Amino acid sequence: MIIIMKPGASVGQIAGVIARVKEWGYRVQISEGEDRTMIGLLDSGLPVDREQIERMDGVERTIPVRQPFKLAGREMHPQNSVIQIDGLRIGDESIVVMAGPCAVESREQLLETARAVRAAGGHMLRGGAFKPRTSPYSFQGLGQRGLEILAEAREQTGLPIVTEVMESQAVSLVAQYADILQIGARNMQNYALLHAVGEAHQPVLLKRGMMSTIEELLMAAEYILSHGNDRVILCERGIRTFERYTRNTLDLSAVPLLKQLSHLPVVVDPSHATGRWDLVAPLSLAAVAAGADGLIIEVHPHPEQALSDGAQSLRPEHFEELMRKLEAVARAMGRRL
Ligand code: PEP
Ligand code: MN
Repeated sequence: MIIIMKPGASVGQIAGVIARVKEWGYRVQISEGEDRTMIGLLDSGLPVDREQIERMDGVERTIPVRQPFKLAGREMHPQNSVIQIDGLRIGDESIVVMAGPCAVESREQLLETARAVRAAGGHMLRGGAFKPRTSPYSFQGLGQRGLEILAEAREQTGLPIVTEVMESQAVSLVAQYADILQIGARNMQNYALLHAVGEAHQPVLLKRGMMSTIEELLMAAEYILSHGNDRVILCERGIRTFERYTRNTLDLSAVPLLKQLSHLPVVVDPSHATGRWDLVAPLSLAAVAAGADGLIIEVHPHPEQALSDGAQSLRPEHFEELMRKLEAVARAMGRRL
C-alpha cells in the first residue's frame, strides 16, 4: 500500500504516519514527489485499516500496490531512476554504451580493446575476469589478475569498468575494482549473491536469466533493492526459445515493458542475445528505438582468436560503424549518445 500525504503536509504529520505504520510491523519507502510525500509500505506487517490511515492528520488517500515488486515497480516510485557513474548518467536521455571483450584474456588484448572502445566513443569497458562457462574445460577467466588488468585499462582510458561477480564470497574483491557489478544470467536467481550485492556500494547490472520471466527478473532486482542497494540496472540478454539460428532470442518487447513496469534503467545485450556478430548492429539499433537506456556489446580486436564468444564479438571497425548509426537512432528518439 502507498500512503499519499497532502501537499504541504508537515514534517510532524509525516513522521506521525511513519511511526504508526512501523508499530504495525512495516518497513517504509519514502518517495518525495513534486509537491507531496508518498509513503510505501514494505513487508507484511499486521493487516492495515486503510480508513484508519486516511483519517490521520496530513493524509490525503491510500492506494493498494498490486505489483509484487514494490521497490522495483513504478507504483511506489513513478519517476525514472538515474544511476550516476563518474560523469555518466544511466537512465536519463543519454544512451550509455558498454563495450569490450567477453573475457579479459591478457593485458595486451584488454588494453588494445579498451583503446578501440574509447576511440569509437564507447562509455564503459566490459570484460569478465571470472567467467561462468558451460564447460568446466573452457577458459574460466584470469580471476584477480583480470581485475588488475581492468583497473589498468580504466587508468589508461578513463572508461569505468563493468565486470561479473559469480559468488557472494567474491563480492568484496570484485567491488574493489568494478564500477558496476554484473550479475550473469546464470546467477539471476542466486539469492545469496543478490543479497551480497544488495549490500555493496556499487551499482549492479542484473542480467535476465535465460529461462526467466520478466516478473522473475523484477523480483530478482527486488532482492537487491530490499537489501539497501538502490542502484540496479536491468539487462535483457535474450531468452532460450526453440530457434537455433541464434544463440538466444532477443525479447525486445521486454524493453518497453520493463520501462512501463519499473523505474530502473534498462540495458540490452545484443551479443549474448544473438551469438552472431552480424546481428549485433541491427538489434542494437532496434533496442535503442525500443527505448533502451544503454547497450552492453562484446568487442574483440581479433575475434577469431578469442578464448570465449568470438563468434558474437564485433571487430573495432564494426563497433565504430555501429556507434555512428546509433547516434542517428538516438537523436531520432530524442536522446543522445
Ligand atoms: C557475459 O556478459 O559475458 C555473460 C556471460 O553473459 P550472460 O550472463 O548474459 O550469459
Ligand atoms: Mn560473453
